[in-house]
This record gives sequence, C-alpha cells and structure tokens, in this order.
Amino acid sequence: MKDKIETFMEEVRARNTHEPEFLQAVQEVAETVIPFIASQEIYNGKNILLRMVEPERAITFRVPWVDDRGEIQVNRGYRIQMNSAIGPYKGGLRFHPTVNMSILKFLAFEQVFKNSLTTLPMGGGKGGSDFDPKGKSDNEIMRFCHSFMSELYRHIGPNTDVPAGDIGVGSREIGYLFGMYRKVKNEFTGVLTGKGLSWGGSLIRPEATGYGTVYFAQSMLATKKETVKGKTVAISGSGNVAQYAAEKVIQLGGKVITLSDSSGYIYDKDGIDQEKLKYVMHLKNVVRGRIKEYEKKYPSAKFYEGKTPWKAPCDIALPCATQNELNGEDAKVLIKNGCICVSEGANMPSTPEAIAEFHKAQILFAPGKASNAGGVATSGLEMTQNSLRYNWTRDEVDQKLQQIMSNIHKSCLEYGTEDNGYVDYVKGANIAGFVKVADAMLAQGV
Ligand code: GLU
Repeated sequence: MKDKIETFMEEVRARNTHEPEFLQAVQEVAETVIPFIASQEIYNGKNILLRMVEPERAITFRVPWVDDRGEIQVNRGYRIQMNSAIGPYKGGLRFHPTVNMSILKFLAFEQVFKNSLTTLPMGGGKGGSDFDPKGKSDNEIMRFCHSFMSELYRHIGPNTDVPAGDIGVGSREIGYLFGMYRKVKNEFTGVLTGKGLSWGGSLIRPEATGYGTVYFAQSMLATKKETVKGKTVAISGSGNVAQYAAEKVIQLGGKVITLSDSSGYIYDKDGIDQEKLKYVMHLKNVVRGRIKEYEKKYPSAKFYEGKTPWKAPCDIALPCATQNELNGEDAKVLIKNGCICVSEGANMPSTPEAIAEFHKAQILFAPGKASNAGGVATSGLEMTQNSLRYNWTRDEVDQKLQQIMSNIHKSCLEYGTEDNGYVDYVKGANIAGFVKVADAMLAQGV
C-alpha cells in the first residue's frame, strides 16, 4: 500500500512543484483514501483521485487599484474552481499577503471534501488575493474589492460558483464585492454568501463556523461521556471563527483562557467571559486593533509576544487562526498538559507531525474539513433561502446547523472507527467526503 501511495504522490509532486501546502493536503487524503479505493471494486483503476487533485479550472487575474495617496497599486487575484461534480463551486475568498497558488489549491481541495460532508449540493472552490488589508482605509478596501469583482464577476454566478469570506474577507468586503457584481450584471442574486441580513444574508452565518466547531467538539466529547461544561479551553485566533467559538464555549459553561493574532496570544487566568468577548469583538471588528490591547484593559491577562497559545494548560484546544499553526512539539505539550480534545476551526492548522501525536496518544482530534464545515454548511443554507426568496428564523438555521454537524460526526464514525474502537476522524472525514464526489464523477463519465 505504501508503494501505491508513493507512486501517486510522485506523480502529483511532479505536476505541482513548489506547492508545499497543496502537497501536504493531498498527502493526508492519499494516505487514507488510497487504501479505501484499493478495497472497493467500483473505484479501482479509475484514476479517480488523480482527477480530483487537478482543478477543473484555475483563474489568475490582475487587480489594479488606487490607494489614498493617488498611487496605483497592483495585486494578483485568483479563483480555483476545483470540483463541480456535486454542485456549483463553493468556497471562500482569502485576502492575505501569503496567498498564492499552493495555499489556494490546498484550500480548494479541502473544500471539496468539506462541502461533500455537509450533504448539501456544493462543489469546491477557493479564491482570493495577495492583497494585505492590514492598515488599509475603508475607501482603499472598497476600491480594491470593486476592482477584484470587476474581473471575477465573469467567472462566477449563483449556479456556477458562489464565493464567500475567509481570512481578510468579512461582511464589509462581501458588501463591496456584492455591490460591484450587482452593478455590472444588473442582477440581484445569491452569487455570494455571508451577505448582510437586509440584502439576502442568513441569520447565524457569522456565528456558524465557530459554533459548528464547538458543536463538533460536543459530539466527540459525548463519545467519551464528556461535555464542554467546566472545561478549560485554549483558542487561537481572534477573528470571526475564534470569536464565535469562544461565545459558544462560554454559553456551554466552558472557560476560555486564550485568544491570539499574528503578533502573539493573551492568556486570561480568570477566563474570557461574554463581556470581555464583547470588547474583543469591538476591538477586532470595529477598531481593527491588535489582541495585545486586551492586556491593557484586563489586568488578569498577560500577553505573550510572538507565541502561539498551545503551552497554556487546557482540556480542549480549538485552533482557529490559520494553516500549520500547531506543530508536533505543540501537540506533545498539549497532550502532556492533559488536553483530551482538539477541534479545528481553521483549515489545516495542525501539521502532519501534530496529527500523528494526537493519534498516537489516541485523543479526540477533528480535522477542519469536518469540524469547521458549519460555516460553508450555513452558506449552503443561505443559498437555499435565496433560491426560495425566503428567510428562516435564527432558531431554524441553528437547528439545521446542529443537525448537519451531528451528521458529519456520524459519517466520520462510519468510516473512521478502528478495530480497537478509536475513531480516526481524519480517515473518516476523507473517505466519507470522497465517496459522494467520486460516485458523482463516476456517474457522469470521464
Ligand atoms: N471560508 C470558509 C471555509 O473555509 C467558508 C466558505 C463558504 O462559506 O463558502 O469553509
């Protein structure tokens, strides 16, 4: 089996040189899915995984815009349309200086499996730009978004490709992007998700990724007859996902002790309660400041510059910042300190070495493509509401989200339970996500 995986990876590496993140994501899937393919007559000899690692389409484009000094700036825009076998391409846009082909292809590839797991009819895609929103004025953000959409619009549509937010793209950016789409197409349609409530957005969409990550942790903990109540929880990140993961943990009676951003993390020994979290939301979403400010406001907290929060002793870890933010050494420290559950809110935040440590220690570990699928699932619910020209209540959407997360958990158990009873959620998510897409591809022919 090792030979089969290595032969496959050699072919993928040859075609995707200098794309380490993409190769990392493919390797993880190959290791779990290739043995499964070998055991199933219908998938054997169809080169199905090799077809899945090649994007159906990858678009790059120039994004020129004028800054506040009147100077012309140029960034690169991307949209990777990875797989549309089960529905229109669906996935976020990321605006961050690290954005490149490798990162977007890894995200688009993961998105295919994630979207399949939600059981909703969505294919996978991802896009974005190397534009850095940090320090930009509101007008600069608007001009950039308008320029970005003035090209992207011709490649997307409510039945073709439906982008949403990701790192650096929140409700403000979705608004500017939607504004330009509506203008150039002369059409009011559900072409983006994460829209504002008064113009086609869904209740619970802002909360969904963070809430879903915690709902998934609840399902995992329930298999050990455990709950979130009374648990100490370390969270990384302080953006949309981290904020609402923290809110749900607090609602369920857990104690959140950390939050972070790219410059370091804050540790609050008294716990971050709802009121302190409200301050963080204001700091991050309105003032657009740094998490370091928290230390000045709350003396119970200490800021650790340039560090990630994984040395803080906790029962549950929720990595909600970005890819490869939790390495093998971090994993060892978490396990040594008694952590029993890791639920990823970000995409691929744990390195392969970290995942190997979690598996070795047989603790509960959920990969982002399962545990953070609540965001895109609720995007799918937003698309449904747009098609129906109707809005569900907060409770209705939350119920559906909880049901979807619980179904994803069940799918992981179905394909990931080992002979000794340990659940390999990576294997479970990869195989369950693969089956639906592979069956659709086979049915539709080469
Ligand atoms: N960017 C989010 C993700 O990684 C959401 C994508 C969407 O809602 O389309 O799944």
